[in-house]
Amino acid sequence: MKQDSKTLGILGGGQLGRMSALAAARLGILVHIYSPEADCPAGQVAARTFTSAYDDKKALKAFAESVDAVTCEFENIPVETIRFIQKTKPVYPDDRLLETAQDRIREKKFLNDIGIPTTRWTVVRSAADVDKFVSGTGNREYILKTARFGYDGKGQTSGRADHDDSKAKIKSLNSDSIIIEEPVDFSCEISVIVARDKLSQTAIYGPMLNEHNNHILAKTIVPAPIPNHMAEKAQDMARLLADAVDLVGVLTLEMFITRDGRILANEIAPRAHNSGHWTIDACAVSQFEQHVRTVCGMPVGLPARHSDAVMINIIGDDVKKLAPYYEMKHACVHLYGKREVRAGRKMGHVTILKPIDENEKRHIDADAELRLAHGSPEGRGRAQSS
Ligand code: AMP
Repeated sequence: MKQDSKTLGILGGGQLGRMSALAAARLGILVHIYSPEADCPAGQVAARTFTSAYDDKKALKAFAESVDAVTCEFENIPVETIRFIQKTKPVYPDDRLLETAQDRIREKKFLNDIGIPTTRWTVVRSAADVDKFVSGTGNREYILKTARFGYDGKGQTSGRADHDDSKAKIKSLNSDSIIIEEPVDFSCEISVIVARDKLSQTAIYGPMLNEHNNHILAKTIVPAPIPNHMAEKAQDMARLLADAVDLVGVLTLEMFITRDGRILANEIAPRAHNSGHWTIDACAVSQFEQHVRTVCGMPVGLPARHSDAVMINIIGDDVKKLAPYYEMKHACVHLYGKREVRAGRKMGHVTILKPIDENEKRHIDADAELRLAHGSPEGRGRAQSS
């Protein structure tokens, strides 16, 4: 497959864009960032930055003209922006996947329609709808979430059915589009990341085990300590989703494992994910390189993991306590170049590696590896996982 794109445009200027731009640089691909925010983490490492609003058509046109293909680094880019750029340049993921991932109602309906189970949910408009839902589930506890623009626990609240309280909770969300969910009694939260190229070949990372503090990811452990049959099932669900949306790029499926052994999908992220940051240091090809490869028309790379890993997010003031990590033998520190420290702000992450078979001296047969890469039929077209 030839490399279609030499200059990649990324909408969004955060740390995901930064890590994709760094991966692109290694492949000789230039990155142009488009972000409303000046001095953004991605712009600091890009060849060019366009600083303007997402509805500034003049700036969007100039940005699109300057690149060969466009992608986004987070899902809340206005769909109109994507559609405007799609008129002149290919955009991956396309407007349909973004539209699905931006709205919890579309997202959950889509997952359920393709046979991926979620917790019980429905749309609510009134306290009477909450009463009806809890009498249906038989569980008086519930979670309300705004359908759009919620992340890291923002735009969500939980409660115990009581008509007046439910009314107040609905009002507090200040949104005309709200869903109610039954709380999941989960034993753990996991995620799987899938990269898929234009020839429908996939590469899979995970499942990863994710631990949250105040709804913000705090720690990711890989491999997730779950039975193989469950890990395979979680991978199958993520691959099914990637095929169903005809993905070109990377997507993440966040899931719960319930105490009674079911796997329920929670959320789709149509992009590289915080729970995949460990792949930069622990894999031959990282999730960010997969992102760049696939949207630039190259094949997915081998996601093989050479180390087990624990990834710890550096949040807010944690950034002032990095000294011990710099002393650790297998700790890889990543900082995102954010000037201002704020509570809850993701400032960086640390990946602590535990190399697999560290003492085993393995002979690498480079010629055999190359033969496999260049055309052995069994070497291509298969899904591969880390
Ligand atoms: P979300 O914004 O949907 O990704 O939710 C953020 C976090 O809230 C999840 O990672 C869970 O820890 C928790 N959470 C969300 N929905 C549920 C649910 N239905 N049951 C239990 N915990 C939930």
